[in-house]
Amino acid sequence: MEVIHVSAECYPVAKAGGLGDVVGALPKYQNQAGHIAKVVMPMYKTKFLTNHEWEVVHKGYTNLGNWWFTYTIIKESKNVLGFDLYLVDVNGLLDREKIYGYDDDPERFTAFQICVVDWISAWEHRPDIIHVHDYHAGLIPFMVKYCYRYQHLQNIPTVLTIHNAQYQGWMGWDKSSFIPAWDSWKQGMLEWKGSINPLASGVKCAWKVTTVSWSYLDELRSAANGLEALFEYEKGKCSGILNGIDTHVWDPSTDTYIENHYGADDAEEGKMKNKKILCATFDLDINKPLIAFIGRLVGEKGADLLPQAIGDSFHHIGRTMNFLILGSGFPEVESALESLKVYGQGDYNAYIGYNESLSHLIYAGADFILMPSRVEPCGLNQMYAMRYGTVPMVRNTGGLRDTVIDYGDEGGYGIRFNYAAVGDVTQAIWRAVELYKDTEKLKEVREKMMRLDFSWETSVGHYIDLYKSL
Ligand code: ADP
Repeated sequence: MEVIHVSAECYPVAKAGGLGDVVGALPKYQNQAGHIAKVVMPMYKTKFLTNHEWEVVHKGYTNLGNWWFTYTIIKESKNVLGFDLYLVDVNGLLDREKIYGYDDDPERFTAFQICVVDWISAWEHRPDIIHVHDYHAGLIPFMVKYCYRYQHLQNIPTVLTIHNAQYQGWMGWDKSSFIPAWDSWKQGMLEWKGSINPLASGVKCAWKVTTVSWSYLDELRSAANGLEALFEYEKGKCSGILNGIDTHVWDPSTDTYIENHYGADDAEEGKMKNKKILCATFDLDINKPLIAFIGRLVGEKGADLLPQAIGDSFHHIGRTMNFLILGSGFPEVESALESLKVYGQGDYNAYIGYNESLSHLIYAGADFILMPSRVEPCGLNQMYAMRYGTVPMVRNTGGLRDTVIDYGDEGGYGIRFNYAAVGDVTQAIWRAVELYKDTEKLKEVREKMMRLDFSWETSVGHYIDLYKSL
């Protein structure tokens, strides 16, 4: 079976979060399972671009409304990622430093999608499945179905995977002419609440829709940033497939980002060596449990709760634990976390920014990973943490609910709490401190977590079954 994945992110080419990790891994494992999976994404100005060799596979000429432009599709020559990787180059529009955050993002991602579909139209054969990811590729199912110039592609099944339904790519109707001429009776298939909504359009037009966990799909029917009724209506074609993790990249016994490797049998010593480096680097106390947070500093992740929860913990529980934060996001949260450095000195530190190698060292050296998320479609951090023997402290939501069982329950191994509220987070911190004191229990929990299987093989099987059903 031949599948072309269309995405704005793909690790290690360009990653802002979990979407990148998934699109960098799923195709690799689909290929290993004997299928042909390819990825096409925008050509940003990234290190990966300059460090690898490329060949031009297609040059095209197309339009975004009245603007006609040439585009180039280049392919990575050596297959270093384990799948064919194609980049779409549109001069001046896509080749920028950042993935998102420009005023003309609607133009950028619409142009990207047009180039992708134009290019697929030029293939001498048809792929079996077009698999699009999130809103940046959400217009493709509509284009393939209803744009006149792509009618010969109409029978190719499309699958939309939603990694995050908060971001939907809303555009005003003034931008409708960007989409190549389409059957105007189908306007409703683009629209949600008065504007063009690429994510909603993807949900309406894709043959199948998946979310990255079952619980998240359930939650979308009551909380989907305005699309609740749509998810309720379309539930028949939606299913949840839990993400896996790339166990080659995320393996504490081989991880190229850390110096001190370890496995389930020598986790205590291995983790301690990594913790030592972290504590020395960030002026923390190695004898106290180290509770870390890694992620985007946004409301979805509950990052705004951190400053007060940390302050309250020092105040109510005492300075019996350390905290280390790695992330970037809302300026108010960043500055609150920066300011806390004075009060928390010696027991608290924060690295504001994105740092892939530090994230690996934290998974390896921290004792706990805190995730007070308000919304968590799947969540990868908790799975990485568990593979590295680091106990996840998670709010009971989305994929966190599907992957973490509280250590107080039968067969459990993590810490779960119900509300994204300072009180609940502080109580979870207290439970972490207590667990840390119980060295036997902590060892047992660690061993159990490290032997869990979150590899991609199971999820790949579910995706292939889904494709076959189409
Ligand atoms: P989301 O995609 O919603 O941000 P996920 O849990 O699915 O959340 O994926 C987050 C990924 O991004 C993980 O690989 C995590 O380690 C990584 N990450 C997030 N923020 C940072 C950061 N500041 N530095 C390094 N890695 C980060």
